[in-house]
Amino acid sequence: MHSYDYDLFVIGGGSGGVRAARISAGHGARVGLCEESRLGGTCVIRGCVPKKLMVFASQFSEAFEDAAGYGWTVGETRFDWNALVEAKEREITRLEGVYGRMLEAAGVTVHEGRGRVVDAHTVQVGERRFTAETILVAVGGRPTRLDIPGAELGIVSDDAFDLPEQPKDLLIVGGGYIAVEFAGIFNGLGTKVTVAYRGDRILRGFDDDIRRVVDAGMRQRGVDIRTEVCPARLERADDGRIEVTYTDDTTGTYDQVFFATGRSPYVGDLGLEDAGVELGWNGHVQVDGDSRSSVDSIFAVGDVTDRVQLTPVALAEGHAFADTQFGEMPRQADHEHVPSAVFSQPPAASVGFAEHEARERFDPLRVYRSEFTPMRYTLAGRQEKALMKILVEDASDRVVGLHVVGPDAGEIVQGFAVAVRAGLTKADFDRTIGIHPTSAEELVTMRVPVDTGQ
Ligand code: NDP
Repeated sequence: MHSYDYDLFVIGGGSGGVRAARISAGHGARVGLCEESRLGGTCVIRGCVPKKLMVFASQFSEAFEDAAGYGWTVGETRFDWNALVEAKEREITRLEGVYGRMLEAAGVTVHEGRGRVVDAHTVQVGERRFTAETILVAVGGRPTRLDIPGAELGIVSDDAFDLPEQPKDLLIVGGGYIAVEFAGIFNGLGTKVTVAYRGDRILRGFDDDIRRVVDAGMRQRGVDIRTEVCPARLERADDGRIEVTYTDDTTGTYDQVFFATGRSPYVGDLGLEDAGVELGWNGHVQVDGDSRSSVDSIFAVGDVTDRVQLTPVALAEGHAFADTQFGEMPRQADHEHVPSAVFSQPPAASVGFAEHEARERFDPLRVYRSEFTPMRYTLAGRQEKALMKILVEDASDRVVGLHVVGPDAGEIVQGFAVAVRAGLTKADFDRTIGIHPTSAEELVTMRVPVDTGQ
């Protein structure tokens, strides 16, 4: 006889929760999972997946333009927003189904509804209560708006995928991942995009060269990036548009205002604090390396823990949790050298340290940098630069940071991330034969540092 209904009850059917549930069940655990919205969570339903589909959609305008340089005459082109939204929805629904079938095949019981932790071993979903030896909180995060008058008139990323109409003028507030990615999407689809960022340059935290080259590329494509300014007030204009008064007293009128000002853990009314779970400054569940909270039987993975807000990290945390708790294979998710890509236009990707971080840790540091016009832009006449950059700890010759801006940056860095993760040296890179002609060959052919560190 079991003393609990389940060995594991997972709250949240997003990337981290589904992975943890599926792998735990595979290890023989009796697993229940609840989800209040759609299986797949932020990434599949209102994040990475629909975003990337929209990035693809938005890139056609540039391809049509560039085609002329290669001898093509492209006839009249037209874009239908609703057709894209419908096509995207079909794909999301398909993936949602895949997630459901995957959980069913693994033997996980799915309950619809928002879960609330009642105590260390009990979760309430709607009218029902379930007991479990272990509870996993994987509820993710939610986009936040600025706390300014009229903020409710604006939208957040959750809304951007299903707008009834494509905005003609769009203001995006923020300068992080979501702001720059959606700026590229809407700009490519023909919307006039303004970005308002409170700092002096977008993508704070990234390597300065990445920030500079992405900023220049976005401006070149027509995105109006306003820095050191922020909306102070939003009001509905008589014609239904939104009038924005900025902190510097300038004004602007837009069809939509999109807050891309960060995400916060979705812990409201989850009952965590009452159950004794310690939360951090912004409400995130505080966990140790095993993803265990301050209550022994309650664990958390993914964005709700605010470690690294990336899908593959949530997957790694969920998998390590399952292997450790139910698979007799104790291990911890690795948060070092996490590669990431910004699907901006131009796209950027990085692994390892940014130059400002590397300089604090490694002295002397050798810096290799190459900026060039990618071959595909030559006949197209596109005056845009790509960037390849490698940071090397001089003493060990180890590559400690690698940064790319330009076509396929994410694809390139995913491959090189293995080399950086493995601690390979610049000499290893130099010994590697390039693939010609590619942009990425630059990463194995840069011989002269722009800064020797001496
Ligand atoms: P980010 O933290 O990346 O960016 C938030 C932006 O909003 C920053 O530019 C920040 O400015 C600004 N901001 C925050 N608070 C205020 C404020 N009070 N007033 C004015 N500006 C403000 O969050 P995002 O919303 O872009 O994305 C959330 C997370 O989702 C990311 O951190 C990332 O981990 C993940 N994500 C990953 C993607 C990918 O891997 N490609 C794609 C999309 C999201 P400042 O820089 O000055 O702090």
